[in-house]
Amino acid sequence: MNIERIEADLLHGAPMAQRRALAKAITLIESTRPEHRAEADALLTALLPRTGGAFRLGLSGVPGVGKSTFIEALGLYLIDQGHRVAVLAVDPSSSVSGGSILGDKTRMERLSVHERAFIRPSPSGGTLGGVAEKTRETMLLCEAAGYDVVIVETVGVGQSETAVAGMTDVFVLMQLPNAGDDLQAIKKGVMEVADLIVINKADLDPDAATRAEAQITSALRLFTQHGRASEWRARVLRLSALKGQGIPEFWAAVAAYRAARDIAARRREQALAWMWERIDSGLREAFRAHPRVRELLPRLSAEVSAGTLPASTAARKLLEASASRC
Ligand code: GDP
Repeated sequence: MNIERIEADLLHGAPMAQRRALAKAITLIESTRPEHRAEADALLTALLPRTGGAFRLGLSGVPGVGKSTFIEALGLYLIDQGHRVAVLAVDPSSSVSGGSILGDKTRMERLSVHERAFIRPSPSGGTLGGVAEKTRETMLLCEAAGYDVVIVETVGVGQSETAVAGMTDVFVLMQLPNAGDDLQAIKKGVMEVADLIVINKADLDPDAATRAEAQITSALRLFTQHGRASEWRARVLRLSALKGQGIPEFWAAVAAYRAARDIAARRREQALAWMWERIDSGLREAFRAHPRVRELLPRLSAEVSAGTLPASTAARKLLEASASRC
């Protein structure tokens, strides 16, 4: 592929050429061919100075809670305010189902056809780490193309919320009005990374929504927020995505969050955490691919399972084997 051309069109092209260049760049990033990876790295490195200009918002919630209805309402509101909005998805389940249930264009009918919006489903296939990496890189491409709000959406599958919280400036958890009745249903780990909690469908049962707001607010006080600046405790808001009620108030709460937190520091930490995450996963892949490890692994695994070899001894042997020359 002609990387210089893609770069030039992505940065300075007319709207149609820019959109095409963005699609091509994403295809390159999602490719698993080694030569494409080298080109993708070159493109990302060239574009890096032009990235970082967007506000990055993460959103999670169970299927049916109203994420796409909310993103459509919020996206159109933001476009009205002069923004350009990109919507990306982290959906590790797409590797199983073969297609993405998130970021699907048919879910956001008006936003998806808007010229100031860009919607991209999860890359299908791959582990959570792989999908998250591609989404993160796609986010950088969108920023270089001038999208100034990027929304990254996920369902509560496995560790996907943590992955999304780790690539965004604010992480929003969406709940149903009855969630307060059963706080056990809200995973503690997710509460800990949530910066804003939104109770959707408040129109269906306003009393239940008010109750849920009070219950979640008091539950939040119980969580000590490890490693987080103490000046911000997650806020709880009620809204109705379907009726478009509470959207400006939501955006005002996001603005208050941005004013209260050091977003640049959060991004620096994220970049380093990301580098280590990728190093860990690269080392693991190299380890598993090492011929001596491949040779020893089945037998040593069987011995550890059978209880005839201590796990730590097996690990040491395998690590030694991985350090040997082939
Ligand atoms: P997602 O799976 O989280 O993306 O959820 P959807 O946005 O597809 O919404 C699931 C269903 O809930 C749809 O039928 C929506 O019309 C409905 N819905 C979403 N938001 C609201 C809301 O605020 N009030 C009501 N009454 N229904 C809503």
